[in-house]
Amino acid sequence: MNKNDLIKYLENLNINITNEKLQLLQKYCDFLLDYNKTTNLTAIKDEEGVYLKHFYDSLTINKYLDNVNTLLDIGTGAGFPGMVIAIIHPEIHVTLLDSNNKKIKFLEELIKVLGITNVSLVYGRCETYAKDNKEKFDIVTSRAVARLRILCELALPLLKINGKFIAMKGNITDEINEANDTINILNSKIIEQDIFKLPIENSNRENVVIQKINSCDDKYPRDYDKIIKKPLVKKQ
Ligand code: SAM
Repeated sequence: MNKNDLIKYLENLNINITNEKLQLLQKYCDFLLDYNKTTNLTAIKDEEGVYLKHFYDSLTINKYLDNVNTLLDIGTGAGFPGMVIAIIHPEIHVTLLDSNNKKIKFLEELIKVLGITNVSLVYGRCETYAKDNKEKFDIVTSRAVARLRILCELALPLLKINGKFIAMKGNITDEINEANDTINILNSKIIEQDIFKLPIENSNRENVVIQKINSCDDKYPRDYDKIIKKPLVKKQ
């Protein structure tokens, strides 16, 4: 996907991108590909791949971002989807969280290169961060980080009531069945499964949107070891 394709495809997502934001994306792409030559951040090594699989894909959740003030991206890596959203939506304060210091260092430098001010960085594990930041965010996102059941226990306590967690996935039917009890126990429900194909390469995508209906018990999220080994099961 080249820059002109991106402009065209973003119209389908209701985004009329300005020249200024396009220039920021181009700077992001150049900086990422250059940095990636010496520090492994992404398997995608060409500009067209970055535009399609990182920039466009990150913006497929655009329809859930109206009237949003605060967004957290768990396991953001080199900034996907959170940094792209911060560029397109300067009115949203975006927090990018990752447990890999090399990725946070890259993001620190990227923020300076882009000169954007609506992004905070957190280096650490989500289950630790969640303990002191409950009910803080309107939206939590996560792409390609863990199975849905695990992500739900990490993400849902961080949401305000009525906030939405958007899990960006490939094909995940079995993950939804596995996550149902966790979602119930955390007083939340699936409100949308947006199934679509990424343009040009036609690969499968699914954005699952889970809304928090009520507060989660304060004991969640549990330690990571427990989350992995003891899935939450609803008593009959
Ligand atoms: N979201 C980015 C993307 O789609 O390109 C990066 C995906 S990468 C495969 C997964 C990232 O999640 C890694 O950078 C890893 O350090 C981070 N991660 C995994 N578990 C985490 C946790 N419990 N807390 C914070 N970060 C985590």
